[in-house]
Amino acid sequence: MHAVGRASDKEPVFVNIAYRGNPDSQDWTAYVGKGVCFDTGGLNIKPAGSHDCAFCLSIRCQGKGQNQLDCTIGLVENFINENNYRPSDIITSRKGLTVEIGNTDAEGRLVLADCMNWVQENFNVKVLIELSTLTGAMITCLGSDATGLFSNDEGLVHDLKAVGEKIHERSWHLPVNKYHKDIITPKYCDLTNHSGKAEAGASQAAAFLKEFVEPGVKWAHLDIAGTSMVNNEATGWGSRLLSSMLVKLASGRKSMEKIILNIMAWTWHGHGHGHGHGHGHKHH
Ligand SMILES: [Zn+2]
Repeated sequence: MHAVGRASDKEPVFVNIAYRGNPDSQDWTAYVGKGVCFDTGGLNIKPAGSHDCAFCLSIRCQGKGQNQLDCTIGLVENFINENNYRPSDIITSRKGLTVEIGNTDAEGRLVLADCMNWVQENFNVKVLIELSTLTGAMITCLGSDATGLFSNDEGLVHDLKAVGEKIHERSWHLPVNKYHKDIITPKYCDLTNHSGKAEAGASQAAAFLKEFVEPGVKWAHLDIAGTSMVNNEATGWGSRLLSSMLVKLASGRKSMEKIILNIMAWTWHGHGHGHGHGHGHKHH
């Protein structure tokens, strides 16, 4: 996360929102997300006319729940100055896994990996659900029809799909396995953030994140690249799913009906250099 943010004069911000619904419980749920508040692409600069968007979730819990919840979000600007991290650098992640930078614009997974590592190190996380607008490949794959769902646990897949169907936030289970891990394993270190191999890009990203899941943790990655924005409008996809899942995860314990979650989703939508307004778009 530091490597991604170090070319900006605005320091990265690490946010953790904690909810202690049951201080006696040793079972933690973690929700992880990111906001790349401005993304130039870094030295692998985005083409003129492209734009960047950041999706961020803030979650507020009220009432008597039975959950121990932490929402961990990495906020960072991927900017350009003389201090950039470079393509082909090998950086060390917070967990200690070494990562070759195949592309400085594949920064989201680097931020998420450190956030995932932090929350699992600090709390007894049993379930970790992470949402992010992660890959263009996801948009190619499913469009805005459904969110891509990657996981290491069949039960969690079942619950996310079942709950999602009910509240109209549908996800589609996609593979993440050794095939994808092999693609992102480079010659000289543990992982690459961008293999350059143009296949199964969403699964490659999921395989990267999977390496930061600790043993015994049930994990799901939801790639909302296609569903977070429809016709340039933010949908807030995942807000209802995460709040409903919290109830689902705590069911079986008592007095669940008091859980109320207010979830706000906001999207900031900026424009890259050379894009549109005032340059040939005379209709404004
Ligand atoms: Zn990027």
